[in-house]
Amino acid sequence: MKSFLAPNYAPLPVTLTAGDGSWVVDERGERYLDLLAGYSALNFGHRHPSLVAAARAQLERLTLTSRAFDHDLLEPFARELCSLVGASMMLPMNTGAEAVETAIKAARAWGYEVKGVPDGEATIVVASGNFHGRTTTIVGFSDDDDAHRGFGPFAPGFRVVPFGDADALAAAIDSTTVAVLLEPIQGEAGVVVPPADYLPAVRAACTAANVLLVLDEIQSGLGRTGTLLAGELWGVRADLTLLGKALGGGIVPVSAVVGDSRVLRLLTPGRHGSTFGGNPLACAVGLAVVDLLRRGSFVEHSRVLGAHLHSRLDELVSRGLVKESRGVGLWAGIDVDPAAGTAREVCEALMARGVLAKDTHGQTIRIAPPLVIRKAELDDALDTLTTVLSTR
Ligand SMILES: *Cc1c(COP(=O)(O)O)cnc(C)c1O
Repeated sequence: MKSFLAPNYAPLPVTLTAGDGSWVVDERGERYLDLLAGYSALNFGHRHPSLVAAARAQLERLTLTSRAFDHDLLEPFARELCSLVGASMMLPMNTGAEAVETAIKAARAWGYEVKGVPDGEATIVVASGNFHGRTTTIVGFSDDDDAHRGFGPFAPGFRVVPFGDADALAAAIDSTTVAVLLEPIQGEAGVVVPPADYLPAVRAACTAANVLLVLDEIQSGLGRTGTLLAGELWGVRADLTLLGKALGGGIVPVSAVVGDSRVLRLLTPGRHGSTFGGNPLACAVGLAVVDLLRRGSFVEHSRVLGAHLHSRLDELVSRGLVKESRGVGLWAGIDVDPAAGTAREVCEALMARGVLAKDTHGQTIRIAPPLVIRKAELDDALDTLTTVLSTR
């Protein structure tokens, strides 16, 4: 059949028509437990009542002003988000990639104007296996062939070092380095958790060399790891933290750079912007998201149920049903033994049994259930996974 849709995705063969909490329904009326939750964009599940109510109320009032005019929710959203994460300033954008681009600009501006790096020479150190979005600058420093190949020429000024190796990272820093940009846990790479001493050593190397630590918490942040931010797992604070995905409550794209006002204040009028960034609808939903997170129960649920998830996955590893599993909180990368087929095939078998998950890099299944998932639902899904794997 001819499609009018560009083929830049290969979704599982399911067409969804409705969603509620942890569940979605397809056009035939079949129900599925959603174990992907929009790659963490749906941390509060589908159509969380508080978020829908906030959006609905705002739709009746004011939806867009552009930043040419102020609106009554912009400063409150900035204040509440900063207070939630302990930052002194924020800059609102829409998508995750825009938050990454914003941080790159802010770090370079800081490098030239504060650190004194000669103009045009700033470098940023990034990690192998990174995923920070899809703009040409960002894919330029991706080492994923599909993401990168055929889209150059790319922006210079990035150095790629192995993820998890703090010595290699420190060695890549020199007087031109303005920032280190990392995911504290690499989501797209397959939920790769670095060694315990990695992020503290990275933080120390950045501080020693007067380099900004920028943590991309677009997927790992806002409760996913059983902490508000993944950096907390190792007691590490970034100079700039990137938020996105769940910040929009699964309703609208909302992203932000939060952090040190000594960096973000350099983005003065005319230097950066976005027509939709910080719009009233986004701020209304974002405020409601902050309100949910402040209760702490989502983060706690992710921590407690996450521990249960990983103990059950470890059991599958020891029974030889999966090769390896990684993760923390309600977030896991599960490596399927090639003898059991590809991760895609396992995801299709799960789908046929009412569980939606997503494959990545051939053999890895990624799960990131909504933080509202109940223990019995998660257990049912893990039973289904066990059945699917033991019958292959
Ligand atoms: C999803 C993601 C992005 C990009 O976000 P978009 O909203 O798709 O642009 C950036 N960084 C990380 C870690 C992500 O998971």
